[in-house]
Order: sequence, then C-alpha cells, then structure tokens
Amino acid sequence: MDCPVCKNTMVEKDFGGVMVDVCANGCKGMWFDWLELSKLDETHEGAGQALAEALMSERVKDDGRDRIACPKCQKPMLPHLYQSSKEVTVDECYLCGGFFLDAGELKIIKESFMSEEERDSFVQSLINSDVPEYSEAIEDLQKNQERTQAIKKMTRFLRPSAFVRNIVNRNKT
Ligand SMILES: [Zn+2]
Ligand SMILES: [Zn+2]
Repeated sequence: MDCPVCKNTMVEKDFGGVMVDVCANGCKGMWFDWLELSKLDETHEGAGQALAEALMSERVKDDGRDRIACPKCQKPMLPHLYQSSKEVTVDECYLCGGFFLDAGELKIIKESFMSEEERDSFVQSLINSDVPEYSEAIEDLQKNQERTQAIKKMTRFLRPSAFVRNIVNRNKT
C-alpha cells in the first residue's frame, strides 16, 4: 500500500498485536486500518517497540495541504481536529473506517490530556461530521455503525497511558 502523502510504500508494523502501516521510508505517517482497530478489546491500547519509534518521530506540518485520498479506497479523507488547542488533524476515511496520522501527531495526542468529556465530544464530532459525498453511506445503517465503532476504537488506541509517558520521558534525557 502506498502512503497517501508521499507515495512511498508503507511497511506493516506491530503495535502490540495491532498491525499499523507506517511510511517508514518516507514521511513516517501512519495508517490505521479499521479491521486492525476492530481487534482491540475494551482495555487494549497501542503498545510495543513500533509505538515507541512512532513517538520519536518529528512533527510534520500538514496544514494547508489538500485533502489526501484514502490509500485503500482512493476517496478523499476527512480531516478532523483532534483537540483544537493542539492543532492535531486526524484524517479519516468514512468508507473503510481507516485513519491516517502524520508523523509526530501520535506523540502530541499521547502527551495531551483529554478528559472523558472532551474525548466524548471529539468522538461525537467525528460521528456527526456532515460530508456531502458521504451522505449515501450515512444512510447505510451498517456502515454508519461500523464507522462509529472504528472511531471509538481509534480514540481508545490513542489514549494516553503510563506506559507511553515512561517512554517519552526516557527519550527526553
Ligand atoms: Zn509518507
Ligand atoms: Zn478508505
């Protein structure tokens, strides 16, 4: 699969049982497949060496960029602000439920505290996003439910944890 930003071939990496496509030879962006996200159970979150590496990536400026196309469906992805004050954009493909994160965005998300309330409103803003080209799929109840589940799993994967804070602190010194 080619990276939607720089077109390099992406490499599958193990994030603690969840396979994530990483643009290892290019921009270091990350692609989260809906099927992979669906494997996460209620308590699981991203882990492992691949996650540690991803957290060391330098932030890439992605503002002003045209909409990127889903690497699987080739449909335009929908950018969402993860947390307005942090200016992190999560690109979502409505059709397949996949997400793309630019290099460095995972680190910012992991480091930023988000209350349950804020996370719920982020999830709601994604679920309620109104995109004309997606209206047909929104009427498809099953697709809509799958998407809602993918969004919830995504925020679970991104959840800040003690494990990750330890890695980040270690790498600062
Ligand atoms: Zn790339
Ligand atoms: Zn897609």
